[in-house]
Amino acid sequence: MGRMMLMFTERQRVILRQIVSPPYIYRWAGLLTTVGLVVGVAVVVLADVGRETVLAGSAAPAVSAGAPAGIRARTAEDAPARGMPGAARPAITSSLLSVTSTSTERPSVALTFDDGPTPQYTPEVLDLLKEYQAPAVFCMIGNQAVAHPELVSRVIGEGHRLCDHTMTHDATVGTNTPDLMSRQLFTSHDSLANVLTPPNVIDYFRAPEGRWSPELDQTAAQTGMRPLGWSVDTLDWTQPGVGGIVSSVQQSVHPGAVILFHDGGGPREQTVEALRQLLPWLRDQGYQFVFPS
Ligand SMILES: [Zn+2]
Repeated sequence: MGRMMLMFTERQRVILRQIVSPPYIYRWAGLLTTVGLVVGVAVVVLADVGRETVLAGSAAPAVSAGAPAGIRARTAEDAPARGMPGAARPAITSSLLSVTSTSTERPSVALTFDDGPTPQYTPEVLDLLKEYQAPAVFCMIGNQAVAHPELVSRVIGEGHRLCDHTMTHDATVGTNTPDLMSRQLFTSHDSLANVLTPPNVIDYFRAPEGRWSPELDQTAAQTGMRPLGWSVDTLDWTQPGVGGIVSSVQQSVHPGAVILFHDGGGPREQTVEALRQLLPWLRDQGYQFVFPS
């Protein structure tokens, strides 16, 4: 060792001694351990990120998996009662429907339109729904349905479903006496059902302004209609602008969402234009359009 040390300069010898001497061996060991730990943690974190990316990729909706489940205009040889599509309807209960079935493979949303039908907006909404093969629920005000049977006929004929929204958009219906409530729903259900011959099936009931009560849920179910809520409110009735309606859906939509629009009750040009943007957007996100169930 002594002879070897003579081969180095004084400075090199000092460094060599520092490296070889025990205290520095410990420091080097410490440094190497630290580096090893940092590298180890980095590898674990990167592997996790990679796995999450893969998971996110596999969970993403299959956009190119073909057109959304289409709707089909019913023909004379279809089910005898109007509004009776091929798909089986779940049993009617008084539990409020606020989400659609999530049993389908692709994420789904349900489109609902309240306060119509109106000659100004309902045909435009129907044109767009037909273009994107999107079935929807129309929560109709009884008096307007009676006044516009041709619109009810088109709604049913193009594969959509009906929802009772009371005769006059009575938001206090849920606070009435059970007897009065029953008579109100019986009247509105029958008026909507008998707009056409043979009678329409009225699948759903929606409380005006969403003013539900347990008694109202129960009465709707007893009248043969499933209480229909919503989980995404476009607030289109406040006329927030086309962009406002579009972004409210884009920010809040989720698999199983029931989306609330209006095709009546005031100017609805914004709703129509927003729908024109939202239908392709929802489709491109991988959503299929279904009925609430
Ligand atoms: Zn309404």
